[in-house]
Amino acid sequence: MIPQSEQQTGWQTGAPIAIIGAGCAGLSLARRLTLDGFKNIQLYGPLSPAATKGHSWGFWAAEGLADQIRLAAHRWPKWQIITEQQKITQSADTAPYCRLDSRTWLNHCLDTINGQVAHLADGRPDQNETLIFDSRPPSVPEGAMLQHFRGIEIKTNNPCFDPETAVLMDFRCDQSRGIHFIYLLPYSPNEALVESTMFSPTPEQDRFYDEAITRYLDAYWTTGGYQIRHQEKGCIPMAFLTPVDKSLLPIGANGGCVRPSSGYAFSFIQRQVDKISQQLATSRQGLSPSSLPRPIRRFDLFLDKIFLRVLRRHPDRAAELFARIAARLTGDEFARFMSGLAEFSTYAKLITAMPTGLFLKALWDEGKERQT
Ligand SMILES: Cc1cc2nc3c(=O)[nH]c(=O)nc-3n(C[C@H](O)[C@H](O)[C@H](O)COP(=O)(O)OP(=O)(O)OC[C@H]3O[C@@H](n4cnc5c(N)ncnc54)[C@H](O)[C@@H]3O)c2cc1C
Repeated sequence: MIPQSEQQTGWQTGAPIAIIGAGCAGLSLARRLTLDGFKNIQLYGPLSPAATKGHSWGFWAAEGLADQIRLAAHRWPKWQIITEQQKITQSADTAPYCRLDSRTWLNHCLDTINGQVAHLADGRPDQNETLIFDSRPPSVPEGAMLQHFRGIEIKTNNPCFDPETAVLMDFRCDQSRGIHFIYLLPYSPNEALVESTMFSPTPEQDRFYDEAITRYLDAYWTTGGYQIRHQEKGCIPMAFLTPVDKSLLPIGANGGCVRPSSGYAFSFIQRQVDKISQQLATSRQGLSPSSLPRPIRRFDLFLDKIFLRVLRRHPDRAAELFARIAARLTGDEFARFMSGLAEFSTYAKLITAMPTGLFLKALWDEGKERQT
């Protein structure tokens, strides 16, 4: 929040601010600006389907996310990464893993901006307006690594889940088509979201994910049968993408908020919109694409680039690499790293946990590619 006492800039007193895209980033920015006293905000584009047909946003609790944590439907103090060889359980003292329903968040944003922001489902902002934020999804280059998934919310006949422990990655599933794991968020002993998730350049047929989930539940959980209450699917680019229009102010996935190595974006979007509001409240010159706050640290992006190189070259080592990371860090360190808030000591632990040969080769290849 901007202190009331602070002098107001032109944008707070009424110079127009346009936001293209009424999805997570567009609505989160409209909410933040409204809360911080900005006037004359116009939001362009149809409301995201995520406001009515919900899906889950997972993120780790961190500073600056108080409302998001309060609105989260579930929080897990523990989580697991499971491979054929080992089961690593991490527990967090300060940073539980949270699940926020997209409907809850987007409708909270809509309630906050109601009557204060003009929402024009059709139409485009006047290009002469000084500030135009753009959250239209960027195009994804052919062959880019994707995180693609399909999941179900189930109610089981037997109480078989531990509601304290989320399963972030369970690699005990078919690895023949690429990096594949099951993500299982237990809501109660007999309710859970179960997703089959892949990291690969090509999405699979729905049947692939559905069969993987069925086989997994049969093999590892004594469900006693279950009813499916809801389904969700998605595809998130794990790549370094170019904004849709370089002359506008890119936000959200279009503004580099998707962490390339993990596909997590929600908390980066929230941090980005908070920083934009702070910057606008103090800047008289406004913002340009190059002065926009960075949602993800440069060093994290560099590590992600190297990590993705290794994953692409050695998908068969993915389970081992994620397990090494989880085994080396405490729960809170892991959460801060995944949220882009790692301390220097965490990076040091992480780097020493990785197999040196694989990463040196990836580093070498990266250097060579930059030279050419
Ligand atoms: C199913 C799913 C699950 C996810 N789960 C997680 C998670 O657990 N944790 C996490 O951190 N991240 C998650 N993500 C990734 C990320 O948080 C979301 O993709 C997030 O919605 C990105 O926000 P955004 O505003 O950039 O894009 P969007 O929310 O997609 O919003 C873009 C908006 O632009 C609009 N638009 C498009 N073209 C135009 C146009 N020409 N004019 C006007 N408007 C236009 C669209 O209608 C849309 O409303 C998930 C993504 C998906 C799809």
